[in-house]
Amino acid sequence: MPAIIELRQISKHYGSVIGIEHVELSVEDGEFLTLLGPSGCGKSTLLRMIGGFEEPTTGQIILSGQDVTDLPPQKRNVNMMFQDYALFPHMTVGQNIAYGLKMRGIGKVEARQKAEGALDLVSMPDKIDQMPHQMSGGQRQRVALARAIVREPKVLLLDEPLSALDANLREQMQIELKHIHDKLGITFIMVTHDQTEALVMSDRVIVMESGLIAQDGTPEDLYERPATPYVANFIGTTNLLPGQITARNEVGTRVEIGGQSLLTHYEKVPAQDSVQVGTRPEKARFLSGEDAEEDNTLLGCVVECIYHGNSLRTTVRLNDEQNFHVDAMLPMGMARAASPKPGDEVRIAVDPDNILMFEIGS
Ligand code: ADP
Ligand code: MG
Repeated sequence: MPAIIELRQISKHYGSVIGIEHVELSVEDGEFLTLLGPSGCGKSTLLRMIGGFEEPTTGQIILSGQDVTDLPPQKRNVNMMFQDYALFPHMTVGQNIAYGLKMRGIGKVEARQKAEGALDLVSMPDKIDQMPHQMSGGQRQRVALARAIVREPKVLLLDEPLSALDANLREQMQIELKHIHDKLGITFIMVTHDQTEALVMSDRVIVMESGLIAQDGTPEDLYERPATPYVANFIGTTNLLPGQITARNEVGTRVEIGGQSLLTHYEKVPAQDSVQVGTRPEKARFLSGEDAEEDNTLLGCVVECIYHGNSLRTTVRLNDEQNFHVDAMLPMGMARAASPKPGDEVRIAVDPDNILMFEIGS
């Protein structure tokens, strides 16, 4: 697939503040790409530069093979949906959507037809004559989306598009937005600080950290093979424990963790012996007396159990005083009463395929 956008060595400095530093990124035509990271890491700055609302300090932006670095937003075939929707309050929904078309000299009848088409796509076919204040937040959000896609841009930029919605509506819109992307077949670049949203919606996710790209990969890559402890902890939860490699051979890598020992099959074996060992809470489980033959285990004592409805998070204090979380799903009929309680001595089993290693300082 050809790249629709190429960012070449893009940096953005605000005086001494670094917004973005040396970002190289290539976006495929039709991709759903998400920029993910905590507040202040540079997501919006990068998106605004792609849209032409902000000029890079250095570097080039290539759109469909053309250098657009110095072109204003309206000269790029890119459209942005803003976080606050920015609808005109005195215009109907139809007028709001058609506004950009009229600016381009498209006639009234055609503009209304296109507005109707865009409203169909966002599942609001009968709202064309309503005023924005008559609508719910979710509906205004759909209008803003219709307005952004009516001009048929090649790339749609979305800055935290769902952040104003409540949890249920947000989940529903995540899936709808993904379906709209598939129907339109254009490139979407979305910004979010919500890791679940990024995993659910995207073909590819760029995890950002202080103006830099921390990792670039599919949702599965990021979750299963996080490049650094930062990514491992930003995408979900990871138990990180300091350890020392004691053996490297064809069976795997053996790591000593506070006097206990674990085997891992993780293929990225650090060069130094001092490492951080990472395990997802849902990839560990408690053993009972009958499982005596299992040997990849950690011993500890339960300190806390937190009920999440569908799952239970149990915190275990290991022999060396480090905490380790174990998540267990609670399917129908499985009572939380069956799980270990605070004060219980427990044995945690972790499969060698589910233990990651990171270099110290990575
Ligand atoms: P995010 O969208 O990831 O929350 P931003 O891209 O908005 O982050 O900001 C990245 C960094 O650049 C932050 O440190 C922010 O304070 C700084 N920044 C953004 N815009 C400006 C500006 N107009 N002037 C000065 N600093 C800015
Ligand atoms: Mg932002």
